[in-house]
Amino acid sequence: MSTLGTEQNPLRIAIVGAGPSGFYAAEALIKSKPLVQVDLIERLPSPFGLVRSGVAPDHPKLKQAILVYQKIAQSPDFNFVGNVTVGKDISVAELHTFYHAVILTCGAETDRTLGIPGEQLHGSYTATEFVGWYNGHPDYRDCSFDLSQEVAVIIGQGNVAMDVSRILAKTVDELKTTDIAEHALDALAESKIKEIHVVGRRGPAQAKFTHLELRELGELEDCDPIVNIEDLQLNPASQEELTDKSNRANIKNFETLQKFAERTTSSKHRRCHFHFLKGPVELAGSGRVERIVLALNRLEGEANNQWAETTSETEEFACGLVFRSIGYRGIAMPGVPFDDRKGLFPNSNGHILKDDNPVPGLYTAGWIKRGPTGIIGTNRACAVETVSTLLNEVENLGSTEKTGFTGLQSLLSDREIRSIDYGDWQKIETVEVERGNAKGKPREKFTRVEEMLAVLN
Ligand code: NAP
Repeated sequence: MSTLGTEQNPLRIAIVGAGPSGFYAAEALIKSKPLVQVDLIERLPSPFGLVRSGVAPDHPKLKQAILVYQKIAQSPDFNFVGNVTVGKDISVAELHTFYHAVILTCGAETDRTLGIPGEQLHGSYTATEFVGWYNGHPDYRDCSFDLSQEVAVIIGQGNVAMDVSRILAKTVDELKTTDIAEHALDALAESKIKEIHVVGRRGPAQAKFTHLELRELGELEDCDPIVNIEDLQLNPASQEELTDKSNRANIKNFETLQKFAERTTSSKHRRCHFHFLKGPVELAGSGRVERIVLALNRLEGEANNQWAETTSETEEFACGLVFRSIGYRGIAMPGVPFDDRKGLFPNSNGHILKDDNPVPGLYTAGWIKRGPTGIIGTNRACAVETVSTLLNEVENLGSTEKTGFTGLQSLLSDREIRSIDYGDWQKIETVEVERGNAKGKPREKFTRVEEMLAVLN
């Protein structure tokens, strides 16, 4: 009988990526019956992934998920191993020598592309870059955005597009008490943006944002939402969608858009215009974005399954900034099967597949498992499913004793890689909070890895 999962031979699991899915997978493992030792490996010294560097700074309630992760981190069966990049400092194959199984929860770190002329012109950016920049993510610390422009376009109508629009639309007073990175606040204080255009390829009944996020754009100090009442005329299939109570989120969005359309414009300095049934076909300009060309679309297909079809009609207008907010995409990891079309690890209920066969001891959870959808809590159910797949297959993991954390630390030390434990992270965090409190902010994040490590010296 296998001794795996007993005190003499605990099940040793490495999780790669300390965002919500990584923590939820750790939680599910720690709560499980066999004795499990979990090491959560993260390339940055800071944990919490998109909750720290994706959730908008003016949405502190969403960041309260961190309280749960902090509790998980206190478990004696858990280690945080920060500042270690799997795929560079250590390979997945090497992790398998120390652990019975590896769970990859590395998220969707890049963006989908539009594939249109001018996409790479100066002045055209991804939402990921902008979000990472204002949230102080070290990868995006040195990005710069030309906020001397008056007209910005956001392509896409999901919640990330709402976050980007709101951050562009808010005044410094509305942002200065949030945990927005100092460099971003300073740059936004000088912003000349007046017109923000949020462009959706489908109609107002299909927008993917949620109404709470949409509603916020109607509650800003110095920005009015602008919706053209004619754009709210629906085709029969969209009318049918909005009579279906299961489309509650879309119904709420539509009601909010109607309220926006009924408003009279005020003397606020900024305006956020909503466009529907328009898809970008070109970003034009000499050396930088000067204009956007949009095709006018019509919807095709049945209710709840309508797609945008371009017509031969186009419209264009001048703009100096474009943010492409059309969804995230996962990136490959050396030695791990990858579905390049979908941008995720092919898997069956979390077990990674190679040529349709499960790869022994290799699992995945979160956006890199299912694609970039859902709210933070969606990742809990996703991680629980993966952990339950793993535990159902525990007999297949063999009963060899593994060295886990000790083996990992010894290899990292041989390679002179400085890893960060949870206590180290707490020291860094304490200084961030002190720096923030001095300015009336919840924290002032360190935006460079070297700055975080310097706290520990
Ligand atoms: P998303 O919700 O999938 O929205 C992507 C948008 O881009 C959609 O409007 C989509 O239109 C459009 N799009 C995709 N490809 C396009 C193309 N080729 N041309 C033009 N438009 C295109 O993605 P997201 O905004 O990145 O958000 C990712 C996930 O994070 C979502 O589940 C979101 O709810 C969540 N999130 C939540 C919050 C929050 O709770 N406050 C904040 C941020 C993000 P179609 O609908 O036609 O495909």
